[in-house]
Amino acid sequence: MVRPKKHLGQHFLKDQQTARKITEALTAGPGESVLEIGPGTGVLTQFLVQRPDISLRVIEIDRESVAFLQRTYPALAIVEGDFLEIPWEAMATGPVHIIGNFPYNISSQIFFRVLAHRQEVRSVVCMLQKEVADRIAEKEGSKTYGILSVLLQAYYTVDYLFKVPPGVFHPPPKVMSAVIRLVRNEREHLGCDEALFQKVVKQGFNNRRKTLRNALKVLAFPADVYSLPVMDKRAEQLSVDDFINLTRHIQDRERAARI
Ligand code: SAH
Repeated sequence: MVRPKKHLGQHFLKDQQTARKITEALTAGPGESVLEIGPGTGVLTQFLVQRPDISLRVIEIDRESVAFLQRTYPALAIVEGDFLEIPWEAMATGPVHIIGNFPYNISSQIFFRVLAHRQEVRSVVCMLQKEVADRIAEKEGSKTYGILSVLLQAYYTVDYLFKVPPGVFHPPPKVMSAVIRLVRNEREHLGCDEALFQKVVKQGFNNRRKTLRNALKVLAFPADVYSLPVMDKRAEQLSVDDFINLTRHIQDRERAARI
């Protein structure tokens, strides 16, 4: 028996139907690689191992869960370690689909690592706290639209699948949960300086009540950048495409300022 450890965000799913539904949302096709983050006691894993057509690997930080999984699924490829720290190559080579009932305390960080590997991560199916799921799926104009919404939606199509109440977990988390799916879009490249894009999005939302003119002041772009009409708006009013266009404008002005 593996006892849940709170500091590892362990809330084990008890409901088999919910577990099945999550694994059925996986878009991986025959021959493709799948990485499960935080299998714990294997409630999702038990369904995933029933698919011999996929190549499954799991990454789990908890020694006791790892030992349990080794005993229960001797043929399973288990990587023991921290998803946020371990070299990517230890978990995946080439295109990969990610699935998991995420440790909620690090779900945003998991997505930042996914973003860093956006050319390899084809899709993500995950359960996380509803509030974060909402933020990721939200469109511009909403109070919860933020950094992760813009950065993830730039590269992924986000589907909000279903909500999950606390009672189906042991122990029950304090918050509602939700399952979402992200599928990599066709956009190989944004057509702008992607590092600058991320910087503008992050800085814009760090001061989300301010106009972009004020929020982006610290980035000290050439003066005429700040006279663009879009600078009157707040970050939450800009779509992904608006942010891409803004980044292109900034690049143009920076180039012009250097000449
Ligand atoms: N999938 C299981 C467990 C979900 S709880 C279920 O649905 O029941 C989250 C799991 O993530 C736990 O097993 C926890 O040990 C693991 N975990 C927590 N932090 C982790 C990290 N940084 N890297 C990998 N696994 C982690």
